[in-house]
Amino acid sequence: MGFQTLRGTTDLLPDELTRWSKVEHTVRRLARLYGYREIRTPLIEEASLFLRSVGETTDIVQKEMFRFADRGGQEIVLRPEGTASVVRAYVEHSLDKTEGFAKLFYLGAMFRAERPQAGRYRQFHQYGVEAIGSSSPWTDVEVIALCVHILRECGVTDISVWVASMGCRKDQARSAEELRQQLEPHKSTLCQECRARLERNVFRVLDCKQPDCHAIAWKNMKLFSLCDECAVHFDDVRRGLKENGIAFDDTQSFARGLDYYTGTVFEVRAKGLGAQDAVAAGGRYNHLVEELGGPAVGAVGFAAGIERVLMAAGHQGTKTPTTSRRGAYIAVTNAALIGHGFQFVQQLRQRGVCATMDYEAKSLKSQFREADKAQAQFVAILGEAEVKQRAVTLKDLEKGNQEAIPFDSFVDTLVQRTGSSSCH
Ligand SMILES: [Zn+2]
Ligand SMILES: [Zn+2]
Repeated sequence: MGFQTLRGTTDLLPDELTRWSKVEHTVRRLARLYGYREIRTPLIEEASLFLRSVGETTDIVQKEMFRFADRGGQEIVLRPEGTASVVRAYVEHSLDKTEGFAKLFYLGAMFRAERPQAGRYRQFHQYGVEAIGSSSPWTDVEVIALCVHILRECGVTDISVWVASMGCRKDQARSAEELRQQLEPHKSTLCQECRARLERNVFRVLDCKQPDCHAIAWKNMKLFSLCDECAVHFDDVRRGLKENGIAFDDTQSFARGLDYYTGTVFEVRAKGLGAQDAVAAGGRYNHLVEELGGPAVGAVGFAAGIERVLMAAGHQGTKTPTTSRRGAYIAVTNAALIGHGFQFVQQLRQRGVCATMDYEAKSLKSQFREADKAQAQFVAILGEAEVKQRAVTLKDLEKGNQEAIPFDSFVDTLVQRTGSSSCH
């Protein structure tokens, strides 16, 4: 018996990665288009970072973190999400001083120790953006616009955007008290955990996986009552979305399952993932930077799951991009010519033409099969006759024609015919 991947983790094989690369490429291209710059933070962080930011009473921190003590006894966590790390980096490197308004994006693996189920992984992958250093409603609009733009270009077009405002800390305290009073009469129906949540952090009842708790909480959850300042901010966000043609629904209140959110929160749900399943989600977190030791600046961001984006795109019938034929395959007719062929392969590669060959002196037929598998556009045959005439036989697999090309002009000819973008 050989080894296998751990439950909840997957290998991404080359065929599958074609789709992944397209998403990653789209994220990088569009994030840069909107003025965001890439940041990469470590996969491991101090455990207390997430206790302080995501919140000690959240499911993520209490049940879903891979947490362990290293040999020195320090509590370490495999990062369960991206925002806390990005804000930690922003504070640690004083990006407020060097970047001012820091617009950052990331791509990478995240880890949650949940029980694996359909579409949930213990190692999963997210991309996200964080706009740190502004409280302007236009940053909220920009972040939501970018989120939707990326999804559409990734083929997730059948989506609904849900926006709400959780208000400032004062508004949240008021709404929490209201929800607590609403839930009090149902206390006996709630699970034991939720009875404790009622006192400590009533919004967590909304995340409970027990159907009864979930139903009661959502039935009683009203829209957050906002102070004047928060109401104006939320109005501006909605106006900005409307003016820019981004359709949204603001009729449902929701509290996101992380403690750091304030003000605008949003979720993008995609057809094909089920009612509760967001493909991307985010919001404003105006106190997090300060709480992690940085300046008192506003911030807003979102994160999206790459596995979920691909699943939604698949359900919505988006075609996997077909790779077009490119580059050349050098086929040699006997082992003595491998060295000569290899020189051509290297010369082509140096000039930016995708090139490969077989080193086992296989039959010409099986070399053609391999060329086809490698999606080569050309096969150049190098045999004794070709050496005598100092010209390769070049077959164009797309057009089906064949011609002799002198050795001296062979590389130039292929550079010309394949263009500079022969390798993607
Ligand atoms: Zn407020
Ligand atoms: Zn419960």
